[in-house]
Amino acid sequence: MIIEQTIVKIEKNYEMKISPVKKSRLDEVDFENLPFGKIFSDHMLWCEYKNGSWQEAEIRPYGKIEVSPALHTLHYGQAIFEGQKAYRMADGRVGIFRAHDNFLRLNKSAERMCIPQIPENIFMDGLRKLVELDKNWVPKDESISLYIRPFMYGSSEFIAARPSEDYVFCILTSPSGPYYAGDVKVYIEEEFVRSAAGGVGYAKAAGNYGGSFYPAKKIQEKGYTQIIWTDHKSHELIEESGTMNIAFVIDGVLRTPPLSDRILAGITRDSVLQIARSWGMSVKEEPITTYEVIDSIKNGKLTEAFGMGTAAVISPISTIGFRGNDYDIPPQGSDSFAIKVKSELAAIRSGRKEDTFGWMEIIG
Ligand SMILES: *Cc1c(COP(=O)(O)O)cnc(C)c1O
Repeated sequence: MIIEQTIVKIEKNYEMKISPVKKSRLDEVDFENLPFGKIFSDHMLWCEYKNGSWQEAEIRPYGKIEVSPALHTLHYGQAIFEGQKAYRMADGRVGIFRAHDNFLRLNKSAERMCIPQIPENIFMDGLRKLVELDKNWVPKDESISLYIRPFMYGSSEFIAARPSEDYVFCILTSPSGPYYAGDVKVYIEEEFVRSAAGGVGYAKAAGNYGGSFYPAKKIQEKGYTQIIWTDHKSHELIEESGTMNIAFVIDGVLRTPPLSDRILAGITRDSVLQIARSWGMSVKEEPITTYEVIDSIKNGKLTEAFGMGTAAVISPISTIGFRGNDYDIPPQGSDSFAIKVKSELAAIRSGRKEDTFGWMEIIG
């Protein structure tokens, strides 16, 4: 079961401290050749939880932190994160995509990992102020973006297997180039799992990633880009693709596995489903077996397969490997659903199309 969540609000007279940099590093950045997630903007948001409450949040210069080797999270992995993006809009303003949904999901992950809930105004006001302060770091080209990484970790200094008493909430921002997925060849994994019923798969917990690197490395050695995860019990149900949600178009129907405690509720997934429904497309959130996917490729009913996530947004899959055989999916033309929904999302984010879903958080 996914735990019910409560939104913590704190006093109205909440203040945030802002300590700006003396000199911006902006002119050192080559915006023509941005890597993904390696360059960090001038400022970060920093907020500590001590003696049972969140302290004053501070926007301060991005920089190194000193930690004890007994830092709780290094030993017990009580750490969670989010991934979201701010975009430069066509008229020059900056918009953050579905910011409040990332706030809600961070607290859902926090609950499962026994981390205190972050109050809404620390997250939302902190995020807005941080992006506003560093808005010149949002790339001018609307096909690239400012990647935003909120995270929380247990910061007590003791070695004992119980929850940390102190925590840190931090937000980093990173101007990032396109996340080239290239030609995505995936392999259906029937041995290792990313998550299991009753586990932490629905939380964006750091350890979910740590545990996925070994199986990913094994299939990459065989020439595949990503894993298609199957369920822990039968290995017959399709779950996700790498760190993205997965969808197929089979017989003209958009198919994706239903959410459960084993699947991360992606905001990109939700956006794609909402757009598909608004276009009158038939959408099915029901279990899909590996056999159905392979059979549908063989008989030509499966016309599209793609991953969905904030980093790459939509990542079309060209080949699916299963039990030693490769099955190719026909190349996706400009009239494919994946390409159309990708450009629809880009149009909404840039403001070239009306934001009828109310997804953009506009920063001056
Ligand atoms: C973050 C993540 C996703 C994608 O979520 P978005 O909100 O669309 O970025 C999908 N699966 C896993 C396992 C993830 O960690």
